[in-house]
Amino acid sequence: MSDVLALFRIQKLELVIIDRTKRIKAINAQLEDDAALQAAQAVVDAAREAYENAAKQANELGTQIASVSDKRSESEARLYSGINNNPRELADMNREVEALARRKSSLEDELRRLAADRDTLLQRAEEAEAELAELQEQRQQENQALIGDRDALSGEVRAMLAQRKEGIQEIPPELFQRYNSMRSAKSNRPVAELRDGACTICGIEQNSSVLSAMYRTDAIVTCQNCGRILIRL
Ligand SMILES: [Zn+2]
Repeated sequence: MSDVLALFRIQKLELVIIDRTKRIKAINAQLEDDAALQAAQAVVDAAREAYENAAKQANELGTQIASVSDKRSESEARLYSGINNNPRELADMNREVEALARRKSSLEDELRRLAADRDTLLQRAEEAEAELAELQEQRQQENQALIGDRDALSGEVRAMLAQRKEGIQEIPPELFQRYNSMRSAKSNRPVAELRDGACTICGIEQNSSVLSAMYRTDAIVTCQNCGRILIRL
């Protein structure tokens, strides 16, 4: 195998390695991206908080109702105890009992509304939690598939790197060094195929001196336009 052909094979291998490595990086980025999960978690947190606030308010109202109810019972007991016979005081006590009864009834109405809100909020929180759980499960399955792909790609890259190491041994060190120094400027393609008298990468037709050099010698010939090492396949 000619040196340039060996070099061209290394280039092909490196291009595949670069492609696989890019895919591995893209998979890693996908694995790290949990924006959707975070958004779903935020919905759950907000729904839970709203429910807990409503539940707390309802509990406090329940306590308040019990206290009003106790007060009313006490007032009623005093009213009907027969200890006090003063008509004006009895009338005051009666008004107080009635006021407490009205207060209790209005608090109970409020509690009914609050309890209904609380139940709705609980339902919403539970729905949000179910959605989050579903998303997590789906995500886990997707991640498993992605990790499988990534492992396969990593295995391929490892094998290709070993192949590359072996292939480099066949190339004269100074030629490989020249190739390496051209790599970044030539977009990882320092070697170009010559086809129908033209460089296949820049597309420029080569003049007769380049063409005759390609046919005549084993020396390294470069594209007259882009400077890439030319190969005839
Ligand atoms: Zn060229």
